[in-house]
Amino acid sequence: MRNELLLAALGLSSLTSCTGREPTAAEDHPAQGAPPKAVAPQPTAPDLQALLKRVAEQPEPERLSPGAMCYAVALPFDRTDYVCPTCGAKTIHATLRAGRESPSVSIRAYRESVHKLNQLGLALRLDESALCSACKKEGADALVLEGSYQGRPTRCALRDLDDLRKLQAFVEGRLAWKDFFAREHPLKPELPRIRELLGMTE
Ligand SMILES: [Zn+2]
Repeated sequence: MRNELLLAALGLSSLTSCTGREPTAAEDHPAQGAPPKAVAPQPTAPDLQALLKRVAEQPEPERLSPGAMCYAVALPFDRTDYVCPTCGAKTIHATLRAGRESPSVSIRAYRESVHKLNQLGLALRLDESALCSACKKEGADALVLEGSYQGRPTRCALRDLDDLRKLQAFVEGRLAWKDFFAREHPLKPELPRIRELLGMTE
């Protein structure tokens, strides 16, 4: 986990540096031939119920990639400076708190993941206010994924980046999701969590 945060802090793509399995940024966003942003079509919202049904009904994949081993790198710092994109205030966070890394360390990876989900048609937003000493609401201590479902606003506190990895695999119509080490896990056991993340709780 630690090297993931380090790589995120350094602004490196975690998977490309680890396994080379994921497409590079250049492949994802070709510099040439891409239509100008102004005329880019809006992504179509995915049919969430159809996706849920598919994962629920399909058997779990039998062959899952074991991923690649990456060697942990010691974190070279014990605190991170977080600059709030809303108000500009700087907040200093301990890198580790009660044995868990602060989400401020990998905030770029969180933002990039939510941006990717937006590109896949999910109208989600990352509420980072818990990380800002000025914007923080009392008792808030986690990043929150905001969206809407059936016309009402939804909010779900994020546990870690894996939440967003599961969501991306789900919206991409996969039956398995990949962790930081590109190790695959079946998506079916994660369906309750995916419903929570999307606020699909009736
Ligand atoms: Zn703020």
